[in-house]
Amino acid sequence: MTRQQEKEYQETEMLREILYKALAGKKFRLDCGHHITFGHFLGNDITIFNGKRCKIICSQCGYYKKVDGDK
Ligand SMILES: [Zn+2]
Repeated sequence: MTRQQEKEYQETEMLREILYKALAGKKFRLDCGHHITFGHFLGNDITIFNGKRCKIICSQCGYYKKVDGDK
């Protein structure tokens, strides 16, 4: 990776900030039926796999719905 390419990458803290601003307080019903409220420390967790469309896995039951672009 060149020095110029390295400069294109932001710190993890920026990702945290972006996710917090976009999601804090928002509530979702996952494909499995479990619920998640972002920004709530007792809330359910999810795992997100990167891809054309993110694969979202419920941490409570492990379920995810197959989407286009899955790895
Ligand atoms: Zn679930």
